[in-house]
Amino acid sequence: MKVAIRDDDTSYFTKPEDLQKAYDFLRKEDCVSLSIVPFAVPVHRDDVFPYGKDIKFGYYDIADNVELLEYLKEKKKQGKYDLLLHGYSHEYKWDDNKWIAEMKWKSLDQLNKELPNGKIHLEKLLRTSISVFVAPNNSIDEKAISVIEELKMDYSGIIGVRDRKINLKYVVNFSKRWGFRLIKKIQYPGIMNYGKHRELNAYTIDDYERLIYEYKICKKKKVPFVIYTHYWQLNTDEKAKKLLEKIYNYVVEDGAEIVPLSRCFK
Ligand SMILES: [Zn+2]
Repeated sequence: MKVAIRDDDTSYFTKPEDLQKAYDFLRKEDCVSLSIVPFAVPVHRDDVFPYGKDIKFGYYDIADNVELLEYLKEKKKQGKYDLLLHGYSHEYKWDDNKWIAEMKWKSLDQLNKELPNGKIHLEKLLRTSISVFVAPNNSIDEKAISVIEELKMDYSGIIGVRDRKINLKYVVNFSKRWGFRLIKKIQYPGIMNYGKHRELNAYTIDDYERLIYEYKICKKKKVPFVIYTHYWQLNTDEKAKKLLEKIYNYVVEDGAEIVPLSRCFK
């Protein structure tokens, strides 16, 4: 049984010790899948990175955090981290009295320029190829998905409604996933093939019983079980970390292997 832990928001603002601290309970054979922002802004909605500091608004290139890059390259080589793309800047926009996530408010033109650029930038810096995309705030739509398809990437995330191009595959997948959701009350487990890209849901770490239920369904269907969190959350919220550890202990005792998320698509 494959289990992947996806950790979002590694960026210029991340210190190696932040990641080490968040995952200090893992065994040496385990792998965490980091979704990385290439040119992060320091503000995500009302959260400021790093916490409590007065920082100038702007786009912070991960290339300028050499210590982090060296650390990631080394750990990637050892199989401890899998590297994924998490948007471009993670910038939110305040519109119509709510925060709109990056993939939703940016135009197709802008995404067509930025996403390939961000992907190549990370691949060069980290000397690896990146094949999985994670949308900031798990929000994505048809236009951003078309850019992901051009980049030949797969998508990890929670699947919304009316956010994909409508074709036969979409209709089939739509009925499959919503039928499943109605009966089992959980997001569809397993890979959905949309023709030009594939998608695999990541479950939110919110409730122990619910996650074990989701895990068991994935196991029964022989599909990977993916959960997602944020290192900064694990380092600031004791309850969140305890919950992750509890789930981790359960799946490991059950014989699951903690694998790179990219491998779940293979
Ligand atoms: Zn994020």
